[in-house]
Amino acid sequence: MQTQILERMESEVRTYSRSFPVVFTKALNARLTDEDGREYIDFLAGAGTLNYGHNNPKIKQALLDYLASDGIVHGLDFWTAAKRDYLETLEELILKPRGLEYKVHFPGPTGTNAVEAAIRLARVAKGRHNIVTFTNGFHGVTMGALATTGNRKFREATGGIPTQGAAFLPYDGYLGEHTDTLDYFEKLLGDKSGGLDVPAAVLVETVQGEGGINVSGLEWLQRLEGICRAHDILLIVDDIQAGCGRTGKFFSFEHAGVTPDIVTNSKSLSGYGLPFAHVLIRPELDKWKPGQYNGTFRGFNLAFTTAAATLRHYWSDDSFERDVQRKGRVVADRFQKIAAWIGEQGIEASERGRGLMRGIDVGNGEIADKITAKAFENGLVIETSGQDGEVVKCLCPLTITDEDLLEGLDILEASVKQALR
Ligand code: PLP
Repeated sequence: MQTQILERMESEVRTYSRSFPVVFTKALNARLTDEDGREYIDFLAGAGTLNYGHNNPKIKQALLDYLASDGIVHGLDFWTAAKRDYLETLEELILKPRGLEYKVHFPGPTGTNAVEAAIRLARVAKGRHNIVTFTNGFHGVTMGALATTGNRKFREATGGIPTQGAAFLPYDGYLGEHTDTLDYFEKLLGDKSGGLDVPAAVLVETVQGEGGINVSGLEWLQRLEGICRAHDILLIVDDIQAGCGRTGKFFSFEHAGVTPDIVTNSKSLSGYGLPFAHVLIRPELDKWKPGQYNGTFRGFNLAFTTAAATLRHYWSDDSFERDVQRKGRVVADRFQKIAAWIGEQGIEASERGRGLMRGIDVGNGEIADKITAKAFENGLVIETSGQDGEVVKCLCPLTITDEDLLEGLDILEASVKQALR
């Protein structure tokens, strides 16, 4: 496999190609193929970008038809037929059935773009600078979003420029299972000398993806919403990784029955791996003035097309989300079994997650790396997350076939045994 030019020319900043040092050529649903024709099962799925698999044929056809018709590809933020169709589909299939009413802001296409836009709007709308965010949260690496991201590796990579405008509070479970971390938040809000500037918004992931598949309790989320309402603080749910069906509902906050003021989506939003993000905004909060927040790539028409096709194919009824929940239980059962086996080897391990966003915490990054490296040798692409990379994380496509899911789990189980024996 010819990798010299890739190693020589691509910046040292590259990451995934270090864990998976092959040249990939093709992919379909949950299978990747490298240049030597070797196949891998994909439990990484673009870090949650390929919820509907690679090159999903149902979505691909909509894209091919659109390109063949000379539909607008780039249009700044022009009104286009593709944008109209996306908004109609989003409203009819996602928002209305869930009793949600949002306006839609199309920022640049990445997750961090959406988070930047969301926290900026919260500040503009509330006239306050502070954003409360949580330990182990990950919201992106541009300066505004980075300020709300916990991981020191990213925070230290600013060349000394301090990050500003965010305060970290303990996420659910951070202080042990018997402490409700929101007691601290509530106390601070009620204490004029507590040192917490009253925030414009709270920014939260309902399941922390990069932070180690930390799952917040549904009651904790409900209480968080209540605190926000009581103190006139906006609730922003960052659903960039946990949204688009990953936890078994389109929006991850549906499980808790909370209604955020602002929602960010990106990653799997286009359904096809095309760059695309939107920020959903409670209508009365849409305080933007025309052009006050801009960018060249605001709403990508190819992504509007694939995103609308995705919603039509997968979200016209609840059969897809029920299937995701079923597969989630399959993964949970197997992960519990694997974690128990690891425990028998004298290494504390546990399983956690929601829907098909699941992980096995093996306690330290070295062990997790050994497992994922062995898995890759055995034909499974899977990554780790958590502060020390201690959680082996399954983000397989939600559309994975049962055969591939079971084969991937078998590979993982065998790899754990090989790596730890
Ligand atoms: N927010 C969450 C919850 C994420 O998981 C990520 C990326 O993993 C981001 C924001 C940043 O997205 P991007 O890498 O597209 O900037």
